[in-house]
Amino acid sequence: MTTTAGSAGGGSAAGGGSAAGGSFAAGAGHGADHGGHGAAERDANGAVVVRCEGLVQVYGAPGEEITALRGVDLAVAEGDTVALLGPSGAGKSTLLWLLAGLLRPTAGLVEVCGRRLGELTGRSAAGMRLRDVGVVLQNPGRNLLHNETALGNVLFAQAPTRRSRAVKRRRAVGLLDAVGLGPAGRRPAGRLSGGEQQRLALAVALANGPRLLLADEPTSQLDHETAGTVVDLIRAANEDLGTTVVVVTHDPDVGSALGRTVTIRDGRVGAEGHQGEDYLVVSRDGSVQLPDEILQSSLPPGSLARAVPTAEGVELRRVDLERGSPGGELGRRRT
Ligand code: ADP
Ligand code: MG
Repeated sequence: MTTTAGSAGGGSAAGGGSAAGGSFAAGAGHGADHGGHGAAERDANGAVVVRCEGLVQVYGAPGEEITALRGVDLAVAEGDTVALLGPSGAGKSTLLWLLAGLLRPTAGLVEVCGRRLGELTGRSAAGMRLRDVGVVLQNPGRNLLHNETALGNVLFAQAPTRRSRAVKRRRAVGLLDAVGLGPAGRRPAGRLSGGEQQRLALAVALANGPRLLLADEPTSQLDHETAGTVVDLIRAANEDLGTTVVVVTHDPDVGSALGRTVTIRDGRVGAEGHQGEDYLVVSRDGSVQLPDEILQSSLPPGSLARAVPTAEGVELRRVDLERGSPGGELGRRRT
């Protein structure tokens, strides 16, 4: 990806909460419904902060195209916390960049905080990141002003707010403490380790109490314990301010802390998990991605199957055709 994000963090000018010890002052929230994860209940009447329909992203020059996303449908309700999972190269970062307005989609709809991002200018998208959307990019250094101190980075992110200097400073110090960087406040961001930069990037992204937090692998360079404090801070933003959260992660602990998982495979939403239960997702074009264990055992790639409606739902039954007689069935196996 080529766009430079600069200091990608930002948030709502109205967000006045202050962070201390991983929690935020109440009363500065965005969502009508604070805390908890149950998107399914809120989908019916709650606001939808992220909506993707048939989202396609193709990179590269004509003749050398790489299709990173091939029709993603996704809705994230206000106050929801979502972990984006999936193998390397599946398209997770691409999806996050599109949600952040850092890339323009090749096709399809992407709507964030009520804005259609395909129609936004670069300047309006930057304004959205300052006011409503906090972003932590996968490469932690890209989120920061390297010559500025750690404290200066969190102060700078609050520039669009009307808070007094003292309030900005109190909030910056509280956030740095919450990510364990209190003693590093005066060090230039460029001199921090990868893991420290990662934590600072999260502090910057949360500085204005954003309505939506987008974070790409925010714990990839952290040990287990430090990763835990980062997850605590993300959950505190969700519970205290109603911040909607979408986090790309490989870490199963982060996934299970966030309640809803969305697995991206080969540029599509392949599966969703709610409270530890996994579900298949039916795409707009009617396709479903079968789990690996089914592909390896019951329905290997290329097999023919029938979708048979039953009283409980639908059964996929493998059909083996007789050699030389395409119409004849050799056997029918329930799978
Ligand atoms: P993930 O974050 O799941 O590892 P990415 O979104 O980074 O996946 O990448 C998805 C696919 O798009 C990969 O095949 C990757 O090589 C390709 N890709 C990502 N960024 C670019 C780019 N700027 N130019 C060309 N191909 C890219
Ligand atoms: Mg990635």
